[in-house]
Amino acid sequence: MSAHVRSLTLKQRFSEKKCKIATSAELDGSTISRFSLQLFSFLSVSLKVKVSLLVLLHPPLLILKKQPMANEKTGPPNFPGRPAASPFAAAPPTMTPFLSAGPVVGSEASGYGASSPARFNGPSISSPPPSYVPYDVGSYQRFPTPAIPPSQPIPPSRGPPPSQPGLSPSIFPAGQQILAPSPPVSFRPQPQIPSVPMGPPPQNVPLTPSRGNVPHSSLESLFPASRPTLQPSLHGYPNVQANPTSQVPSAQSPFFAQPGGYVPPPPVAAPIGLNPREQMQHFSAVPPVGPVQGLVEEFQSLSVGSVPGAIEPGFDSKALPRPLDGDIEPKSFVEMYPLNCHPRYLRLTTSGMPNSQSLFSRWHLPLGAVVHPLAEAPDGEEVPVVNFGPMGIIRCRRCRTYVNPYVTFSDGGKKWRCNICALLNDVPGEYFAHLDANGRRTDLDQRPELSRGSVELVAPTEYMVRPPMPPLYFFLIDVSVSSVRSGMLEVVAKTIKCCLDELPGFPRTQIGFLTYDSTIHFYNMKSSLMQPQMMVVSDLEDIFVPLPDDLLVNLSESRNVVDAFLDSLPSMFQDNVNMESAFGPALKAAFMVMNQLGGKLLIFQSTLPSLGIGRLRLRGDDHRVYGTDKENALRIAEDPFYKQMAADLTKYQIGVNIYAFSDKYTDLASLGTLAKYTGGQVYYYPCFQSTIHGDRLRYELARDLTRETAWEAVLRIRCGKGVRFTNYHGHFMLRSTDLLALPAVDCDKAFAAQLSLEETLLTTQIVYFQVALLYTSSSGERRIRVHTAAAPVVSDLGEMYRRADTGAIVSLLTRLGIERTLTHKLEDARHMVQLRIVKALREYRNLHAVQHRVGGRMIYPESLKFLPLYGLALWKSTPLRGGHADAQLDERCAAGFTMMTLPVSGLLKFLYPSLIRIDEYLEKGSTKVDDFKNSSKVLPLSTESLDPGGLYIYDDGFRFIIWFGRMLPSAISFNLFGVELSGFPDLSKVILCERDNEMSRKVMGILKRLRESNPSFYQVPQVVRQAEQSRERMLLVEDQSGGSSGYVDWILQIHRQVQQSA
Ligand SMILES: [Zn+2]
Repeated sequence: MSAHVRSLTLKQRFSEKKCKIATSAELDGSTISRFSLQLFSFLSVSLKVKVSLLVLLHPPLLILKKQPMANEKTGPPNFPGRPAASPFAAAPPTMTPFLSAGPVVGSEASGYGASSPARFNGPSISSPPPSYVPYDVGSYQRFPTPAIPPSQPIPPSRGPPPSQPGLSPSIFPAGQQILAPSPPVSFRPQPQIPSVPMGPPPQNVPLTPSRGNVPHSSLESLFPASRPTLQPSLHGYPNVQANPTSQVPSAQSPFFAQPGGYVPPPPVAAPIGLNPREQMQHFSAVPPVGPVQGLVEEFQSLSVGSVPGAIEPGFDSKALPRPLDGDIEPKSFVEMYPLNCHPRYLRLTTSGMPNSQSLFSRWHLPLGAVVHPLAEAPDGEEVPVVNFGPMGIIRCRRCRTYVNPYVTFSDGGKKWRCNICALLNDVPGEYFAHLDANGRRTDLDQRPELSRGSVELVAPTEYMVRPPMPPLYFFLIDVSVSSVRSGMLEVVAKTIKCCLDELPGFPRTQIGFLTYDSTIHFYNMKSSLMQPQMMVVSDLEDIFVPLPDDLLVNLSESRNVVDAFLDSLPSMFQDNVNMESAFGPALKAAFMVMNQLGGKLLIFQSTLPSLGIGRLRLRGDDHRVYGTDKENALRIAEDPFYKQMAADLTKYQIGVNIYAFSDKYTDLASLGTLAKYTGGQVYYYPCFQSTIHGDRLRYELARDLTRETAWEAVLRIRCGKGVRFTNYHGHFMLRSTDLLALPAVDCDKAFAAQLSLEETLLTTQIVYFQVALLYTSSSGERRIRVHTAAAPVVSDLGEMYRRADTGAIVSLLTRLGIERTLTHKLEDARHMVQLRIVKALREYRNLHAVQHRVGGRMIYPESLKFLPLYGLALWKSTPLRGGHADAQLDERCAAGFTMMTLPVSGLLKFLYPSLIRIDEYLEKGSTKVDDFKNSSKVLPLSTESLDPGGLYIYDDGFRFIIWFGRMLPSAISFNLFGVELSGFPDLSKVILCERDNEMSRKVMGILKRLRESNPSFYQVPQVVRQAEQSRERMLLVEDQSGGSSGYVDWILQIHRQVQQSA
């Protein structure tokens, strides 16, 4: 195809106005900018066709605008099907039955449509159930349900559908036909395959055991039924006690007295109450030894008063507990149940589950879990992959629990009992194994699913309603003037190009781009082109997608075109002076391009969306509303467009990450909604300048693109009888009552959930939890990641306290606090946090005060010793702190979005950053970073820690603040910057980079080391000099500042409140 303009047969039909044509030079990156395009007007011949022209110029461009209406009756209202071979060609053998068909196009076909309406998570949302009604944007979005009768086999052909619109000049369809749908090529599940996976989760639906290979039908949603083949003749493996209704793990448990005469060995770990040491520590079991000193081992206390030199009573600040070692994963949980998954995947706010409503009501802290299903494991501890092969995944017939280390085998091995619902299941013949003398299966060592708390199961076709999607990355990039001037566009283009080789899923990976300012620019990336073609659509009211087939392409096939595009992208828009942002229409266009496959949508936004649907107003941060009932409205989306789009995106398996760059208000509350309900993330780079923040953007974008991602996922947490998860917190869309829809999820996302008791009294002694994430891996395999854990049921409040996990509690309190700011005033959110801490400590005090005569001392359990300080940090954190003047609105919202997804350790570090002094190490002879690590210590976050003669690093996981004391020897700053620090008028512009001297190399070595310990984000070093005004605030949590308490005052306040009714 040469440089001629292809004149389309329908040219006459192209309508009048806004047709733009660009020349190939634009995409060549030459000096001709897009704005040199000429405008052509065509008279529309066909009055019915609103559309315009499509002129294909050589490599590049063309644009046009308009939309076909004439074709509404010409064919099935569907998108032209994509060639089936392309996205799925590399799909693994398990997909065989589906290879023939194209991707799912319709909601019904995907299996998601039939599910119950999704709900918006978050308390604030009065969940308008997304209707999932496709937009009325013309014929493209109507996806009819495939109507193939059940008996019709799927043709094996992998070729493109016959009517696939060709793109070569010879068969280039006429204008209106370009957009005309081809016959539906949607994928249809084989009739005998149940359309299971993601429907509503019928829990407890009794299933009829199926025989043969007719799988269970869709009775069970998320995780469809395995196929229980009844097969006798096994031995039991009494791995652990499991009958929730029987007495737990005692060796004499009648439950194990199976016909074989086998008596199981004691459980792997003693249950609560059987461990002598535990008993010893039981408060109620320990006689009061006398006043305070006898209690020291039992709980911590602080004495009030007697601070040397102080007039008023207070606490000795030095004696206050501080989490200087950062997050500490709870050991007791795992020690007691070694078969549990690692706490990096699942943490409970207390691993002592209350046995009654009345006990639960005395636990004033959140009761629940923090789940981090894809947490990165250290080398050697990866989650083992299990493939059950033809026999299918072994699951409980009734509650759908996956077989795990806590199920027990009985009846000579013919049966296994579910540890969650106690149902006795048959063991499939293929799964049979003999038992050894201890009643353990002899194949235990070869069965990770029976010996490990975390496994990854390879899911057979029953777990698919369409072929596993290919990894898909679509970029929606603002190219208005601020994107260009800040350098964002160039950094983004270069970073994407650098990452192309590392995008997961080669060779199936799909990619596409769309840019926008006041118009929308599509790019044809067809592999046969030498250069991409640009098409501009300027009609924002009636968005349509030109060339729907070549806007998303297989990366390896179109690599040259993609490279050429990314090379030329920055220069294409270098002279752009357009300040507008047609974000909403561009988003709709991206949705239309992506919705056949789903994938990840990365949005780069530099300004407030100003044109078309979804435009946002400068509702701004009006200080007058603070303190009123309207305050919270600023922190949530105003235009329903955003929630509705989020619902639609999730439904079509599209996860959104927002990168926001403006120094002005961009209404992140609205934009972030897209990430919030699609499992995504918000990256905020206020006042972005590539010279200063370029490294951070490069790193974080690269991580986003290359980290392992789970596609089209759903998450469910099952738990034993008597307890139930009732509220979920994080970024996802709730589909049905307990199924979290996650179009894309990765190793940096955690979720929290709250538990409630369903029964007045729990009769079990152990509660089991099982987290299951069903997803498509980048390699195209359908998998289920399963984490299982057990926790004892306790009858004693002291035991609940002893088993409390402050990290998990803080994670839940943080999420609850942030959600509170969406429905209430900031002040209310802060008080809610404080009140829960006070109530918890008051209850604890009531438990012990009289008995131990603690008098005026403040007492608290060892397990919660850092809770008050984290509460203070949360009180002062960006989403909750102060009022109007204390944080910009976008900054608040961005921090809130981030904190809602952080895993425990990242959140704790953000709340209580580490402060380390480094000047002594710099002046010492040693050059090893290890020496630094060993000798450095983390300091309390208070001004008292800062010596004017020192140099410090403050690390909150998101940035480094390098703090220079006023008296620091000038040689140090000279070594680090080449000049005296005072020579810089604006320290925010100072860039710390490696210089040719030992000291500089040491500092950079330290920073590198710190970064390695927290790879999720890139910490940009920001230089701050003591006593100088700086935009960057080093928040010293323990200091009193701007109306908020210091640590000592805070503790005193809490202590007083605790005593009020103690
Ligand atoms: Zn069960």
